[in-house]
Amino acid sequence: MKKLSLTEWESHYVAGPIKRFDQINTMSVRKYADPTMAKKLAGLSSATAFSDVPGHRLQNYALRWAPRHYHSLIAELNGTKPNPSPLSLELKGAVEGANKALSYQINMGDNSGIDTANPDIITRDIKNTATFYGADLVGICELDSRWIYSHTCQKESNADSYTHEPQVIPDNIKYAIVLGFEPDYKMLKHVQTYIGGAAHDLASNRMVNGSALLAQFIRIMGFSAIDCNIDDVVMAVPLAMQAGLGQLGRHGMLISPQFGPRIRLSVILTDLPLVIDTPIDFGVTEFCNTCKKCARMCPSGSISFFDRTTGPVNISNSPEGLKWPQNAETCLMRAARDKYPCSTCISCCPYNKPNTLFHRTVRWFTDHARWADSFYAWLDDVFGYGNPQKADGFWDKWKPKR
Ligand code: SF4
Ligand code: SF4
Repeated sequence: MKKLSLTEWESHYVAGPIKRFDQINTMSVRKYADPTMAKKLAGLSSATAFSDVPGHRLQNYALRWAPRHYHSLIAELNGTKPNPSPLSLELKGAVEGANKALSYQINMGDNSGIDTANPDIITRDIKNTATFYGADLVGICELDSRWIYSHTCQKESNADSYTHEPQVIPDNIKYAIVLGFEPDYKMLKHVQTYIGGAAHDLASNRMVNGSALLAQFIRIMGFSAIDCNIDDVVMAVPLAMQAGLGQLGRHGMLISPQFGPRIRLSVILTDLPLVIDTPIDFGVTEFCNTCKKCARMCPSGSISFFDRTTGPVNISNSPEGLKWPQNAETCLMRAARDKYPCSTCISCCPYNKPNTLFHRTVRWFTDHARWADSFYAWLDDVFGYGNPQKADGFWDKWKPKR
């Protein structure tokens, strides 16, 4: 694994001047703000949410929707963003109005007790605290303003309209702390079922909690912290790459050395003085050029078989970044049509392995003998690593790890 300078990283991933991307063009907003997309989705919603198929039964549906409901709720009520949702402002007003009824009071520091002349120590403590609050990966980079959304959208309280406002991050915010949270490996193998979705959404739940806790930890010490926990303030993947957490994969997600693409990302923006990490290269681009497994296995044909390009597939791809553009429209339409979650591209990826000594050793060899990429991709198929786990009898066999 090589460490890269930011200039080397830039030459690998950026093909020209980057115009800040507008969040209104992301698929999570287009599904309600783009009338053409909303109409397409409305025409697809005939399937029922659960059925008698293993992995799609009501109990599986409940297993997935319990964490999904709560992480969406916590993310929705995040009032620390530059353009918070109207709902979060209502809640903040209600809580502040009832402040005396709270059973606790926090003493907010004025940061005078923190030794800002020692960023090494602060960085160590931030990384340890992030781990204590549940993060599996932590990296730090300077806040590169190109990855901040130019505008953000929030649904209005009546749900029929939305805000679309320029987003301004205060100048004193210099750093991005990127946190990664690992979904359960075995559960995620149950692709295209609610079992795999439960693994993904439980990690999202840990993510919004861990991110909120670390942001509050920083604020109590008297510094600023903007919690960007669901990709609605900044673009997490380029910041994660700059913070040394991994590289971009063909499927459009971050591939980390430890967990592959099986990682949920959140970002905290702060004015704390910190020491930055370095981008890394462990051969992902070259391996993806050969592998193409996610493109072969994607049920909606949303992943490119071609070389990296700056050309977008549709308006949901930010231009100028050098990547394999994913078709978020067809991916979302599959989800709307079938109802159950997918995660095939994460689960089948040869980089998606448990972080054990054996797999770390295999990864070391794949990183140091690039000429054998097609052999490794073939071997991964032969060993059946990308195969989905069947959901029959799941509840009888399940031994969840703690
Ligand atoms: S989530 Fe499924 S449908 Fe969407 S890109 Fe990945 S494999 Fe394709
Ligand atoms: S499945 Fe293969 S091509 Fe797709 S992201 Fe993973 S390594 Fe790259």
